[in-house]
Amino acid sequence: MSAATTRSRTPDRLCAEAVDLARAAAEEAAAPGVVGEHVALVSEGDRVVTHFFECRELGYRGWRWAVTVARASRAKVVTVDEAVLLPGPDALLAPEWVPWSERLRPGDLGPGDLLPTQADDLRLEPGYTGEDEPPPNSAVAPSHDLEERVEEEDAELTGRAPAGTGDDGRGAIAAVADELGMRRARVLSRYGLHIAADRWDESFGAKTPMAQAAPAQCVTCGFLVPIAGSLRQAFGVCANEFSPADGRVVSLAYGCGGHSEAAVMPKPPVPAPPVHDTVATDEFPLRPAPDSGSVTAETDTASEDLGHS
Ligand code: SF4
Repeated sequence: MSAATTRSRTPDRLCAEAVDLARAAAEEAAAPGVVGEHVALVSEGDRVVTHFFECRELGYRGWRWAVTVARASRAKVVTVDEAVLLPGPDALLAPEWVPWSERLRPGDLGPGDLLPTQADDLRLEPGYTGEDEPPPNSAVAPSHDLEERVEEEDAELTGRAPAGTGDDGRGAIAAVADELGMRRARVLSRYGLHIAADRWDESFGAKTPMAQAAPAQCVTCGFLVPIAGSLRQAFGVCANEFSPADGRVVSLAYGCGGHSEAAVMPKPPVPAPPVHDTVATDEFPLRPAPDSGSVTAETDTASEDLGHS
């Protein structure tokens, strides 16, 4: 039978009744006045009981003073085992501690800060340093032809530089490695490339709202500056100062309203011809012309009508 099954589930009566003893122990351990109501008791085993008291200390909401009391077999005296402050089920707890290396977030690095990388950082892998190249005269070194050897021996004797210095295989490989940017202690691993690509694609990729509403993609934009390396197949750098991605690595499938070709500039509006000509002059004579008889005739008729009435 296991030890757990031999434990008594029913609290020992004398231990359960020792509330005052437990309270006194809690008050001795706590600051004055912070031990509150007796809230629960738990049987820890045969003749071992823990009493819980509410903690009234500010900043420890939901915590409880736990005082464990016990008595020996066939003894009537109950004694205190320990008194500790424990979090209750709804206690206010500090967040779980996180190591500093996992706490850092992008943008946390400030001027003067150092962020060392681990030797086994998965994002990096050994680069080409040239140290693996065999020495020039070793048995596994690339063989020189006879003429080059004669030239080198001649140069040793005369003190002249041999013809073709620096053009041997090792120098050429190092030069190419330099050019490709590989001659570093460590370079990005495949994993490092993948997580960088995912990160960039999330910020400036085809699924962003800006790209969805763009008239065309970065791949056809004149503001896109190509980058080197394998990531050039999917990314470039935006160099449009009015774009939200200026100076950022963008996916070739990204796009914005500042695309060099897709945005059509509206033509300046041509004003409609004026309905009322306010520039030309109109003639308004004060009197009718002398040779016009119609107005005089009308006036005479009107005078006759007034005379008859
Ligand atoms: S201006 Fe817009 S479309 Fe052109 S490269 Fe920059 S983000 Fe892409």
